[in-house]
Amino acid sequence: MTSELVPVIGLEVHCRLKTASKLFSACPLRPGAAANSATDPYTWALPGTLPTVNAAAVALAVRLAAALGCEVAEESGWDRKHYFYPDLPKGYQISQHARPLARGGGLEVPDPEAGPWATRVIALQRLHLEEDAAKVHAGALLDYNRAGAPLVEIVTAPVIRSAAEAARVLRSLRLLLLRLGVSDATMEDGSLRCDVNVSLQRRGSSAPGVRCEIKNLNSFNFIERAVTAEVERQEALLAAGVPVTPVTLRYDPARAAVQVMRVKETELEYRWLPEPDLPPLRVDPAAAAAARASLPELPERTRMRYCVLGLAPIEAAQLIDEPVLGDWYDAALTSLGPRGPALARRLCKWLTVELIGRVPPAQLASAKVVPAALAELVRMLECGEVSAPAAKQILDLLVEEGGVPGGIAAREGLLLENDDAALTAAIVEVLRGYPQQVAQYRAGKATLWGYLIGRVMQVLRGRADPQRVHKLLVVALQSPPPGDETI
Ligand code: ADP
Ligand code: MG
Repeated sequence: MTSELVPVIGLEVHCRLKTASKLFSACPLRPGAAANSATDPYTWALPGTLPTVNAAAVALAVRLAAALGCEVAEESGWDRKHYFYPDLPKGYQISQHARPLARGGGLEVPDPEAGPWATRVIALQRLHLEEDAAKVHAGALLDYNRAGAPLVEIVTAPVIRSAAEAARVLRSLRLLLLRLGVSDATMEDGSLRCDVNVSLQRRGSSAPGVRCEIKNLNSFNFIERAVTAEVERQEALLAAGVPVTPVTLRYDPARAAVQVMRVKETELEYRWLPEPDLPPLRVDPAAAAAARASLPELPERTRMRYCVLGLAPIEAAQLIDEPVLGDWYDAALTSLGPRGPALARRLCKWLTVELIGRVPPAQLASAKVVPAALAELVRMLECGEVSAPAAKQILDLLVEEGGVPGGIAAREGLLLENDDAALTAAIVEVLRGYPQQVAQYRAGKATLWGYLIGRVMQVLRGRADPQRVHKLLVVALQSPPPGDETI
C-alpha cells in the first residue's frame, strides 16, 4: 500500500431478531421453513392490510442497544424507503430513518496489535429497527418467509482501520448477540449480514476519501478478503490518477474480487417518507433502564475475568468464541470453588481438549457428564487421588454413563493408594524382596533407583502417585526399616 493512504472502514450490520412472529404482523417467523409457508396477507401486501409493531422485537432491540451503551430514544419514528424490486411486495420497506431507536454507544473488540488482552471501542452511530425483504433465489424464485422479518441495523462510525479489524468487529458483535440471546446471528443463514463501506484517507489529513460500499457480505472470511480487494482497487485507481467514484459493489468469492454493481444510490432515490400507518415508537425510559439492569456479563468482561483467573489468551478465546463451552466452564468453575490459576487452567484443558475430544460442543448441554463431575475429576487429579491415565478412563465412563468420578474410580479400582502406611508397607516388601539390588544401590549404583521404584509401583499395581512413592522410598533407603537387620 502507498504509505500515505490508510483505509477507513464503517460497517452497516443487519441482524435478524429472534422473535416468534414478524415485525409488523402476527405472521410466524420461520425463515428456514419450506418456501412461502410462513406468509400472511400483510407479508404479501394485500390491500387493506396494516402494520402493527411487534413489541417482542422492540424489547430485543432495546436490550441490544442497552448492551452497546446506546442512548435509547423515548420516541423514535418509522419511515418508508422506496425502491422497486420483486423482493419487496409493498414497494417500500418500513425502517427508521430520521429518528432511529438508538444513537451512539460502542462495541468493545479485541485489539491484538496492541497486546494479547487489549481491546478498543468501535464507536457506533445508530441502531434502528426495520423489516427484511424476501429472499431471491438464483433462477428468480422468491421466498417470502423472510419478508417482514424483524431486523436491527447497527451502523458503526468510520473508525475501523483494517480488513482484519472489520472481521473482528463482526465476530465480536456476533458473540454479543448470542450472549444476549437476541439473534441466532448465523452468517450462513442470513441472520447476520453486513455491508462494508471503504475509503482511503491521506495519513494525517482529516479530509474523508470517497466511500464505496460492498453489499451483503455473509462470512467473516469474505469480509476480510472483500475489504482487502477493495482497498487494492481504490489504491490502483488513485495510483493511476483516476478519482474513486462512489459505487456499490458486490464480492465475488470465486474470483476473490469486488465487482461494481451500480453507482451508489443517493438519499433522493430512496424517496424517504414518514410512515403514515404507524404512530411514533415509544420506549418507556424505565423499560430501557430495566434492560440495562438485566444485562448478563458481556463477552469482553468475561475475557477480562478469565485473564484475572490466570488463563492464557488462547484459552480464554476458546471459551469465549464457543459460548456453550464458556457457560460449561463457568458452571464447572463454580462447583470447583476457590482455586488458583493452575487449577483453573487444568480445568480449561480438561474441558477443551479431553471432554471436547469425546463430546462435541453442540451435544454438551444434553451430555450425561455434568460440569460438577468434570470439576471433581480435575480436583481428584490435582490432589493425587487418581493418575492422569486413570482420569481419562474415568472421563470415558462419565461420558458413557454419567455419575460421579469418585464412585466410578472406586468401582473400577482406579483410586491411588494415598495412605502412607500402605505405601510404606509396599516399600518394605520390595526392600526385603530385593536385598541384593538394595545393597548395590546403597553402595552407589544409582541407576538401580528406577528399578526399585518400578518394583514398588508393581506391588501397588500402579495405583499410587509416583512422586509420593519416590519421597517415601528416599526416606526408607536412608534408614533401614526397624527390626530388620538383614537389609
Ligand atoms: P448509506 O445508507 O448511504 O450507506 P449511511 O449513513 O447509512 O449511508 O452509512 C454510513 C456508513 O458509511 C457508516 O457505516 C459509516 O461509518 C460509513 N462511512 C461514512 N463515511 C465513510 C468514509 N469516508 N469511509 C468509509 N466509511 C464511511
Ligand atoms: Mg449503506
